[in-house]
Amino acid sequence: MDTLEQLCRIDGVSGYEGNVAELMRKELKKSCDEILTDRFGNVIGRKGKGKKKIMLAAHMDEIGLLVKHISKEGFLSFVKVGGIDDRILLDQRVVIKAKKGDVVGIIGAKPPHLQKSEDMKKVIKHEDLFIDVGAANKKAAEKLVEVGDPVIFEPCYGKLGKDLRYGKAVDNRVGCHILLEVMKQIPKNIDATVYAVGSAQEEVGLKGARVAAFKLDPDYALALDTTTAGDTPGVKETESALKIGKGPAITIMEAGGRGVITHPKVKDVIMKAAKRKKVPTQIDILEGGMTDAAIIYLTREGIPSGVISIATRYIHGSSSVFSLSDVENAIKLTIETVKSL
Ligand code: ZN
Repeated sequence: MDTLEQLCRIDGVSGYEGNVAELMRKELKKSCDEILTDRFGNVIGRKGKGKKKIMLAAHMDEIGLLVKHISKEGFLSFVKVGGIDDRILLDQRVVIKAKKGDVVGIIGAKPPHLQKSEDMKKVIKHEDLFIDVGAANKKAAEKLVEVGDPVIFEPCYGKLGKDLRYGKAVDNRVGCHILLEVMKQIPKNIDATVYAVGSAQEEVGLKGARVAAFKLDPDYALALDTTTAGDTPGVKETESALKIGKGPAITIMEAGGRGVITHPKVKDVIMKAAKRKKVPTQIDILEGGMTDAAIIYLTREGIPSGVISIATRYIHGSSSVFSLSDVENAIKLTIETVKSL
């Protein structure tokens, strides 16, 4: 199993990133001069000691669920952690990361045969779904799981065609993988101090990046993340022109201006770096969705920031699809950008 697959399979629901953090720390140790931690749960690697400080951020957390209640029949109700579409939940296999070990569960609902025809047309809301862990009653369920345990989609990773891969937690373990590779390949004698930040709790409000940016006070920052691909049936080009396999996406603006508005100098440096390295790129203008850059660039007196991201199909689903060639190109582009900032 390569590191990218390992990253996609490992668990790290927002606020419970410990296992991802451990893997990131282990990998960053191989390439960085120093590993820093903070009280929030971010993992920070430093390479180089030049005057200019550059922060690269990839969030470690994934969207997931949290056990909210155990019924007397032994079924679990749950809350969503991060943005999950209720329509994808029914019939998913999940893993509850319980203290005594992993517990497999199935997300169920009232069977269709027993529903009224008008109900069948409605989306079953997450509060009407439940997780079945095969327990006979509350007492039996409590032997396995506790209220407050985080829940992930059943880990998966695999090949789809030649260049594409699918996996759990592609958002944002792909970014974590890019971060690790960039730190490996950046020359030791680089004339800058490069900080690699595996940030915590991005999916629930860009929280880890906020405290890390304050601590590091960088001159420039780049978020490495995933973004929504628009190359599936039913999406108009005017809604999203991003296609997987057509190169890393360079963000100009997030959430109609409520997220990051990429600093013109940072954008310029990225675009020139892409040209020099002959890396194909796509421009990303988002009406919804933000990245860590949205909060980093508001830190202290403002930090010029940008985003390099990977177009992903079925983002925030249990098996998101991305292109390996986009990942390779994003690594090249990030390294060249860091060198020229
Ligand atoms: Zn993300």
